[in-house]
Amino acid sequence: MNRRAFLSAAASGTFGLGVLGPAVLARSLPGVPGVREDFAGWLWIGGRPEKSASEWRSLFSLLGDSGFRGVLVGRAFDPEMADAAHRAGLEYHRWMWILNRAGDTWARENHPEWFTVSRNGDSTLDTPPYVDYYRWVCPSRAPVREHLRRLISEASREPDLDGIHLDYIRYCDVILPRGLWDRYDLVQDRELPEFDFCYCEVCREQFEAQTGRDPLALEDPTADEEWARFRWDSVTRVVAELSETARASDKSISAAVFATPAEARRLVRQAWDEWPVDRLFPMLYHPAYGEDVPWIGRSVVEGVEALRGTGVELNAGLYVPALNPEELASAVRVVRRSGAAGFSLFDLNPLTEEHIRAVRSVLRETTDRFPALSPS
Ligand SMILES: [Zn+2]
Repeated sequence: MNRRAFLSAAASGTFGLGVLGPAVLARSLPGVPGVREDFAGWLWIGGRPEKSASEWRSLFSLLGDSGFRGVLVGRAFDPEMADAAHRAGLEYHRWMWILNRAGDTWARENHPEWFTVSRNGDSTLDTPPYVDYYRWVCPSRAPVREHLRRLISEASREPDLDGIHLDYIRYCDVILPRGLWDRYDLVQDRELPEFDFCYCEVCREQFEAQTGRDPLALEDPTADEEWARFRWDSVTRVVAELSETARASDKSISAAVFATPAEARRLVRQAWDEWPVDRLFPMLYHPAYGEDVPWIGRSVVEGVEALRGTGVELNAGLYVPALNPEELASAVRVVRRSGAAGFSLFDLNPLTEEHIRAVRSVLRETTDRFPALSPS
């Protein structure tokens, strides 16, 4: 039985674990409850840079030797890269944009009605908020979900792919993280209509059928709990369907999400502690929140607590451009002490060999370096 089948048997109660769930199976570092012995690293690799097969082999072998578990690769499946990863003992996952479909020419040309509509009535297809590539499809629409399932199903056909990694699996930010307000010259102390989605015909009809109310006629749509829940559930339904699709091809499924369950619900309508996935990668990019390394630890604790008993692994996403090697080592140590299953680095481009060596030293640290659990 492979690990995935084992976890799924554990989750379904085959092993009599009952409500304790598979989370209790994770082994702690000896003498340090809560700090996982199998704590490991991941790396996001986007469309650049290009590398030769031998360059990938040497990078991946360094990562494998340093205690990394896998890579999340945002490009079409590359058999040479996958082979190099597997030879180094790394998992190879496909990193895919889901609800932001700026790059989906077919959808843009054939289905303009799929794109989300703001409370002001503007479509993200014609009037993308914040930046030109913010063009989002509506998760309430069945044909949209069918299109997304087909994309995941096609990607999952590669036998040498280990997993699918979902990104942009959310609504457009109704509120940007605090550290980004200045960049866009905005004060988002409330939900502004041009950033609030989705008020398309299908969303309005579905919400009215459920509650008897039209979201456009709500007295204060920003404070309406049912309207918030409707949108959290819309995203969760997409996740559940894509998860089922990936797992049908024996692929694991994961997602990049916002910092904590509370922040993710509030900023981008992700109720990620309710998602049926194998692992989650909260993007704890501290400069975007105007925060520091201790905030990363506090966010991990919050996420791990929210996922307790679900068997879903939390891996903290770290923003490499804002961390020199020493700071990165300190961030990884905080993440490990806070009970995460691992961490992931964003991304390959700013990553130096010194960063990787600094991370390796933390992954090799033993019990005496972890005297206390609560993050500073
Ligand atoms: Zn809609």
